[in-house]
Order: sequence, then structure tokens, then C-alpha cells
Amino acid sequence: MATTERTLAEPYRIKTVEPITMTTREEREKAIREAGYNTFLLPSKLCYIDLLTDSGTSAMSDNQWAHMMMGDEAYAGAKSFDLLKEAVEEVYGFPYVVPTHQGRGAEHLISQILIRPGTHVPGNMYFTTTRFHQEQAGATFHDVIIDEAHDPQFEHPFKGNVDLAKFQKLIDDVGAENIAYINVALTVNLAGGQPVSMENIRAVRKMCDDNGIIMWSDATRLAENAFFIQEREEGYADTSCAEIVKEQLSYFDGLTMSGKKDCLVNIGGFLAMRDEDILVKARELVVVYEGMPSYGGLAGRDLEAMAVGLREATDDAYLAHRVGQVRFLGELLREAGVPIVEPIGGHAVFLDAAEFLPHIPQDQYPAQALAAELFVESGVRSMERGNVSAGRDADGNNRNPALELVRLTIPRRVYTDRHMEIVARAVIDLCAKRDQITGLKFVYEPPSLRFFTSRFEPIA
Ligand SMILES: *Cc1c(COP(=O)(O)O)cnc(C)c1O
Repeated sequence: MATTERTLAEPYRIKTVEPITMTTREEREKAIREAGYNTFLLPSKLCYIDLLTDSGTSAMSDNQWAHMMMGDEAYAGAKSFDLLKEAVEEVYGFPYVVPTHQGRGAEHLISQILIRPGTHVPGNMYFTTTRFHQEQAGATFHDVIIDEAHDPQFEHPFKGNVDLAKFQKLIDDVGAENIAYINVALTVNLAGGQPVSMENIRAVRKMCDDNGIIMWSDATRLAENAFFIQEREEGYADTSCAEIVKEQLSYFDGLTMSGKKDCLVNIGGFLAMRDEDILVKARELVVVYEGMPSYGGLAGRDLEAMAVGLREATDDAYLAHRVGQVRFLGELLREAGVPIVEPIGGHAVFLDAAEFLPHIPQDQYPAQALAAELFVESGVRSMERGNVSAGRDADGNNRNPALELVRLTIPRRVYTDRHMEIVARAVIDLCAKRDQITGLKFVYEPPSLRFFTSRFEPIA
């Protein structure tokens, strides 16, 4: 049965609502012009359905809100830290945790701790802030994801897998002692929320053991990754997602976490690890950049909400609905012939802008143009994940990534399937008049992470 025929409703009742309102086309045209055709610069109140990101946009449960009232705001020794520490140990299996204000705070610390200038960090595709911190610390990033991940139409159950031959080649080329660590993302955001199999995780662990390489995880969407393993990998159909989460992580030396994703909170993150030396260094650095090791730039109530949320996110019924809702939107688009990344990932549906707008060359930023036009058409806010996000190489040229995508990211527990139908309608209508969309050129381009703040204008 196709998942477009949904048999189960949202696994929650709505207790608090936030009104949203539709705008006129004229208001949206004015807004996108003022935002320099960058959806990051739009006021959220003008976004009817906001699919910019799933980061920090989750709806918290009644239990999380109850815990917000129980935050211990003591400067040191707060009990809220103990609650987080217990949850991380019980659910993820790591004895040590260092909170940070969000995921990139943790990326900053681990990059400073593990990277010597001139070393190398392989990863299953880059992530914007992750690579930035690795390069900032003096490392060179190497993409070791399987080739299939760069082909938006290729059907593969675990398109986020590490290509073991690429990893081996890097070891042979630069020497294991010059690899600071391997960073394995669960799931792979920029590949379209694609999962990594348990078999692949085990194989990478073996290579790391054979070569004395540290295995770290960018674990932002580890619960969604577990759902795909349960659904697709032999031998896991009867294992709970909570058990799969724990097994996945048992192979890693540590992780960076953006609590804004699979911990179901609006702000927060942490580093977790087994090694005491890394813990000591992380504690030294966290006081400089984030806050005391027991709060890392967060309020006690944030730690409480994160401790509760990371448990809720591993629940089977929650995950089946979560990934199912993303798939529901994707299947509506696929059935209408809209080009999307296949298979549909865990947190977002990615439109293949290169195929959607074949008449716009990549250096006129087709994905950026499509995201801007979708907003004007419908009030739906999405995000560019293509040439603009990939930035420039050392010679100042656009990186021209193989994937030129627009991401429709679904916040957790926020929208209903009815919202998904409205989004699908908007994209399908826009697809019918796609030849009217024109390319863009930069009018302001910052030196790093340019997608956040750059401004554009249409090419006449
Ligand atoms: C969001 C994200 C990060 C960074 O986390 P923040 O909390 O936004 O700082 C790192 N890696 C991946 C894959 C992410 O999606």
C-alpha cells in the first residue's frame, strides 16, 4: 500500500496552537525583493507554511514543557545537567556529555580538540558548519560517501553509506596518522536525509580499529537513521528504534549533537564521548566558548527539555509518523511528476532544481531562484541546498556541486498532513509554469557560509 493512503493519524493531540495567516501575492513579491531573493532573510510572519528547516522548529511535548518549569538555574552543579547526563548514558550509551549552545558549538570544540593543522577529515558528504569548523582548525575535508549519493535519481536503501574504498584510498594516500578522525553523519542532511546502514557502520568501525582512527558521529538525525535501519536492513524489523539507536552509537567513539533536530528542542546541543582525555579537553574549551561544563551556554530548563526530548524521539510510533509524513509529501510530488531526490529521506523532500529548471545554468543559481519563486507562488518557505550553499573553492570558483536542490524541510510534530497537501499543490502548480522562472546573480556575497546572508537580483 502506498503511504499516500495514510492509515494512522498524527500520534498526538494538539493542545496549544499558533495561528498562521496567508498573505497576498503582492505582499510576497515585495517581501522577496526586500529579502534579496534569499529565503533566510524573509520575516517568518510572512511565511504561511515554513519549511525552511527542521532545526529548532519542533513542537515540544507537554512533558517537555513541564520540565521547562523544573530547570535548575544554578550556575554550577545544577540537577538539570544530571538529568541530561543520565539520558545520554541510557539512550545513547555514552558516559560523558558536554552541553553546548547548539550543534556547531560542539563541532567547534571537537574540531579544536582532534585536529592538528595539516591533517585530514573524511566524512560522508560535507555539512556547512561542520566543514567550516574542520577547515578553521586546519584540516582538509574529504568526501567519502558512496557515488550513488550524488545521483538524485539513484534508488539505494542506504544512500548515506561511507564508500569503504574511498576511505581506504585516503588512508593509503595521506597515512592513517594524518587522519584526525572520520566523521559519519546519521542521516546525511545534504544528500537528502539519506541513512547509513548498520552493516556500513560496523565496516567503518573495523577499518578505524585496523588503522587506529577515531570514529566520530554527526548524530543530528540518529533516530531517523534508526527508523530506516528498522524498515530496510535485514534482521532489524523486530528491533525497536531505541535499541537500534543504541547499537548504532556503540560503534562510535563519540558524537556531536544538534539537539535542535532529534532531541526535539528549540535550542541546544552537546558532545558525548567515552574517552576521558577528550572529556577533559572539551571541559577546558567549553568554559571559554560556551559556558560552564554543566550548562554549556544553555539554561537549566533547556537541558531538561533536551533530556526528555531525546527519549521521545526514539519512540517507534513517533518515528513512523515523522518519516511517514515526509514520505507522504514526497509521494504526492512524485505522483505528479515533480523531480525529487530518490529515495525520499528522513527529514525533508528535496526538489531537484537542476531538472526542475533545466534552462537556468548552475552559476545562475537555479535552486535559489526556485526557492524564491515557490515563496512568491504560495507563501511556502524552503531553502536552497546547491551552488550557493556549497560556496567557493580555494581559487574563488563556485564549487558547482552535483546536487542542485531545494529543501522542503518538515518540522517535527508541527504541521498536519493537510499542510503537506497544500505544499504539494503549490509545488505542482509552480512546476506547470516553470519556464517563466529566471536565474539570479549576487548583489552581496559574504566570505563564508554565504547562503545565510547573501543577496541576489533576477537576471533580466
Ligand atoms: C544542523 C546540523 C548541524 C549543526 O547544528 P546546529 O545546531 O544548527 O548548530 C550539523 N550537522 C548537521 C548534519 C546538521 O543538520
